[in-house]
Amino acid sequence: MTVVEAPVQIDRGVKPPTWIGAGGVVDMLAHPASEEELLRCLVWARERGLPVRVLGEGANLLVHDAGADGVAISLRRLRRVETVCEEGEVVTLAVQAGASLQQLLIQCARQGWAGLEGLAGVPASVGGACFMNAGGAFGEFGDVVRWIETADVERCELGRLEREATPFAYRHSGLEGRVVTRVGVTLRRDEPAAVRRRLKEVMARKKAAQPLGKKSAGCAFKNPEVDGRRVSAGRLIDEAGCKGLRVGGACVSEQHANFIVTDRFATAENVLALMERVKERVLARCGVTLEREIVVWERQGVRRRASDVAVADG
Ligand SMILES: Cc1cc2nc3c(=O)[nH]c(=O)nc-3n(C[C@H](O)[C@H](O)[C@H](O)COP(=O)(O)OP(=O)(O)OC[C@H]3O[C@@H](n4cnc5c(N)ncnc54)[C@H](O)[C@@H]3O)c2cc1C
Repeated sequence: MTVVEAPVQIDRGVKPPTWIGAGGVVDMLAHPASEEELLRCLVWARERGLPVRVLGEGANLLVHDAGADGVAISLRRLRRVETVCEEGEVVTLAVQAGASLQQLLIQCARQGWAGLEGLAGVPASVGGACFMNAGGAFGEFGDVVRWIETADVERCELGRLEREATPFAYRHSGLEGRVVTRVGVTLRRDEPAAVRRRLKEVMARKKAAQPLGKKSAGCAFKNPEVDGRRVSAGRLIDEAGCKGLRVGGACVSEQHANFIVTDRFATAENVLALMERVKERVLARCGVTLEREIVVWERQGVRRRASDVAVADG
């Protein structure tokens, strides 16, 4: 049995909370309570050659049934929201990455801070929303970003990127290899009632279109680019006759074809096999290759069982 000293609280062999429910465990799940602890955790993982993964709210995540190796880092203990600057109608907040996006939206509505309403109903941590550039028809997270503080996983050091240096694009931030720790978000003042009204409107549209009451990881596939413009993956999947298609406990939603919903018997393998089938049908029917939006964690190297490693807080 290997004995290792961990610099922060680490749980072994735990199933990370994910919105889709199905899937396996991560070998180690760390819970740093500060940026310093996060850095120590990165150094600790680097010294042992362990892969590092970052867990937000698990809303876009599927862990393979065989589990995922290395150290997953949860930033749930880093969730402070501070007002750093108020210039006329403009308000800049510094939000730690573990803060809940939906709770931030509620806080913004109370204060009359406008700009994030388009993300109503998108389950995410602020770090996850930034990394994925979450969004939809009503805007993207990158639209309100002023700066981003990150920890570089290889170099184990903190740094700050200005908005202009971040190549935000459709579901892309270019932040691979970094842990987002804090985001500067620029909003504008408005009447709280007006912010609340827009929030409710977006939420109502989302509820009507998406199976929000069922377990899923949001859109399974990215909207592909066809002839230079984005087309709806959901529409292509629907046209390919995939609604209701099922593998085990995973099923293509009847309400929104780009959502794969799961029951309590579903496995990650069911979800992945269903996604393969959908991809094949869309290619055969529409001539378009779909790309996965869901992030999948799986073992990268030789399987190292959590039970082989005793972790001691130190
Ligand atoms: C019901 C439902 C509806 C959804 N609707 C939408 C929608 O309308 N639009 C949309 O874009 N998405 C949607 N999603 C998907 C999901 O909400 C977004 O992708 C969201 O950004 C995921 O954030 P998270 O914190 O849960 O990240 P996770 O799912 O935990 O992680 C996703 C990826 O982000 C990385 N990550 C997380 N935190 C950090 C960090 N601090 N630093 C670096 N990397 C990090 C992870 O390593 C992983 O690669 C939906 C999901 C569900 C379940």
